[in-house]
Amino acid sequence: MNEIFFEYGIDLDEKSIKSFGIYYRLLKEYNEKFNITAIEDEREIYLKHFVDSLSGAELLTGGKLIDIGSGGGFPAVPIKIVNDSVDLTLVEATGKKCDFLKVLCENLGLKDVKIVNKRAEDIAHDINFREKFDYCTARAVAKLNILSEYCLPFLKTGGKFIAYKADAGDELKEAANALRVLGGKTEKIKKFSLDGAERQLIVIEKIKRTEEKYPRSNGRIRKNPL
Ligand code: SAM
Repeated sequence: MNEIFFEYGIDLDEKSIKSFGIYYRLLKEYNEKFNITAIEDEREIYLKHFVDSLSGAELLTGGKLIDIGSGGGFPAVPIKIVNDSVDLTLVEATGKKCDFLKVLCENLGLKDVKIVNKRAEDIAHDINFREKFDYCTARAVAKLNILSEYCLPFLKTGGKFIAYKADAGDELKEAANALRVLGGKTEKIKKFSLDGAERQLIVIEKIKRTEEKYPRSNGRIRKNPL
């Protein structure tokens, strides 16, 4: 299945190719016990999880990355596989998924990875996490206005929030107020196609500090999005 990386112009060394093989086997094994991903087919896993996640790898240099709602590790674990200089924090609300992430990172021999079994909005006021990161990624977690409130508080000023989306046009318009209030500004949108399906990476730069009152509780964020 490694030819799929080549098809999408992704050049990987032997170690990374081997790591994706281990990742695939662990996903299959754990998916039988816990529902880690709805995608089961090998090609689909390589395409919709690995290739899709890696589309953002070129947007990061080293530094500290926090991934919100990691689930089976996407997109941040594939990014870490190809860029070991990233210091990674995975935030995932579901305990079983964190158990999988722990086994996964151990089997991949990844260093500098923390797995936090909490909700993003519950740790974003902790000084160990707040405004400490260079990058924040998230895929398939919430609409952009809600997601921005989860993610932007973790970034240092100048840091980048990279949201993996399908077509984010309407979501971006809807999130304009949230970005202004939370201190974010859309820097660019990277568009590409995966087997004919449009994908977009929305890169949002944090241009000023986020007021202390954000994020609010999850109930308030969802009931009354910015
Ligand atoms: N990012 C992965 C991917 O793209 O395959 C998982 C996506 S899954 C649909 C969404 C995940 O986000 C779930 O595992 C859920 O538990 C987690 N999640 C949702 N809201 C969260 C929050 N506020 N903080 C932490 N995790 C959250």
